[in-house]
Amino acid sequence: MGQAPVIDISECSYCESCVELCPTVFKINEETGIIEAVELSQYPEKEIREAISCCPKDCIIWEGGG
Ligand code: SF4
Repeated sequence: MGQAPVIDISECSYCESCVELCPTVFKINEETGIIEAVELSQYPEKEIREAISCCPKDCIIWEGGG
């Protein structure tokens, strides 16, 4: 299993930049209203890096890897 993006919800301001930049990965949970990163076997790394660099709260983290 490679790296996966994780959102630190305690820091997230719900600006939705990540959802706009990378809608295949970042979604708003319709029930809870929180931003989530979906589980994929392969992530679009370039778009995720863009979302990470645009996140005003720096709360998107690449986790795992190795
Ligand atoms: S870009 Fe960052 S602060 Fe904005 S919704 Fe996404 S995770 Fe939250």
